[in-house]
Amino acid sequence: MEKDKSWTTPPKEEEQRRVRRKPINRQQLLLRPVEIEKLVEEDHPVRAIWELVGQLNLESFYAEIQSVEGGAGRPVWDPQLLISLWIYAYKGGVSSAREIGRLCQYHPAYQWLTGVEVVNYHTLADFRIRHQKALDQLFIEVLGVLSHEGLITLQRVMHDGTKVKACASDKSFHRKATLQDHLQLAREQVEQMGDPESEEVSERMAKAQQRALREKQERLEEALKALEQIEASRSKEEKEKTRASSTDPEARNMLHAKGAYGPGYNVQISTDAQSKIIVGVGVTQATTDAAELKPAVERIEANLGEKPKQMVVDGGLTNQAALEAMTEKQVDLIGALPERRAVAPDRLKQRGVSPDFYPQAFEYDEGADCYRCPAGKRLPYETEERQGASVRRRYRAKSSECRGCPFQAQCCPGTKRGRSVVRSEATPEIAAFQAKMETPEAQAIYKQRAGVAEFPNAWIKDKIGLRQFRLRGLVKVTLEAMWACLTYNICQWIRLCWKPQRLAQV
Ligand code: SF4
Repeated sequence: MEKDKSWTTPPKEEEQRRVRRKPINRQQLLLRPVEIEKLVEEDHPVRAIWELVGQLNLESFYAEIQSVEGGAGRPVWDPQLLISLWIYAYKGGVSSAREIGRLCQYHPAYQWLTGVEVVNYHTLADFRIRHQKALDQLFIEVLGVLSHEGLITLQRVMHDGTKVKACASDKSFHRKATLQDHLQLAREQVEQMGDPESEEVSERMAKAQQRALREKQERLEEALKALEQIEASRSKEEKEKTRASSTDPEARNMLHAKGAYGPGYNVQISTDAQSKIIVGVGVTQATTDAAELKPAVERIEANLGEKPKQMVVDGGLTNQAALEAMTEKQVDLIGALPERRAVAPDRLKQRGVSPDFYPQAFEYDEGADCYRCPAGKRLPYETEERQGASVRRRYRAKSSECRGCPFQAQCCPGTKRGRSVVRSEATPEIAAFQAKMETPEAQAIYKQRAGVAEFPNAWIKDKIGLRQFRLRGLVKVTLEAMWACLTYNICQWIRLCWKPQRLAQV
């Protein structure tokens, strides 16, 4: 009898199980109706942006348009549309005009805004930087809406600075000699430029190359001017190390987060504590925040017509000048004084002073207001000077006593004058401020600072994507920061007002 082998025989090909798949036909042509109004849902944020911008007074944008009914010129894109496009783009972290142009071709929200038209990226790019005053006015208009909604009280405003990277690389910073060499080369290249029509490359490309060379020469000339400006405020030794960026001459080399130095701008943001609304924004080239509090209060006053009642700042902004400015403006200041620094041991070591004769070895006599040195000699009060938040009182021994002292080589080597010691004291204003800051009320207010002040900074960097500027130069980066902060405020209006109202209507 033959053995049954059917269980080991594989099924014939035609008997194998085949999955029935849906075909993809990429050769077909489709004509589909598009109901533009239905491209986005009823509660889509793009509708909120369009609605809000439509309520604002855009007269300053319209005033700059030359093309009018009954006159020459083509119709232009409505500023309400261009503003809404930029705000919606920034909201989604898009800051490129070309990218917005691309999104207009397929993204439902952009198509809803434009009515399925495509806005040229040149139009968008020009619009972003052409209307500085109108944009300032728009920012104020939005603040008016937010204030009307009760989101701004100015009872307490937190202020902070954040560094944003410039559109330039670290390697674009050069010293004077290098910049001069590059400029010389650029000038030679510009001089050697031929007639674009006679070039082998296309006329358009030749003109673009010429423009790029001329712009490079201009940037290098600006970099040398910027370098001279920076040098003017520096000591002779520092001047030799001064560098300027050949890519963005107005950027400054500054300390960013995580301790890294690089080209950047210092963005100053004031935030109302009530609902974390940005009430003032400015951009500076200052590498520290020390002098930024007074201008910040003035910006708030210009935007909202009144001063904040209280400003809350960190140690970088708390100093004697800031305290005096706030007293003059009758604004309550809550802050943290930075630690007072003693004379660095390194400097004493460099002067050859032995550790046994560092200032701590000198004893202060409060009653007689003088010091006693390790040899028992008196160092009477000599002079005083104000430095930041402190008064530096200097005490000096008689030169005759030091000259005859056996410890002179360890205590004050190489000086003809007697040894001096500096006593640093808080100014009366700072002493009063310190006393206020020790109260539990002031401490409790200060604890709120980080949560409020750093919220918009983080939003602007993480959601809007303003970690690095796209544009160059102080004026243009200020406009970029302004668009970002305007978008932030409108996002808060959507979150706190528009969305809850929509939900209530459903
Ligand atoms: S050098 Fe002058 S200050 Fe120093 S221990 Fe001698 S007397 Fe005192």
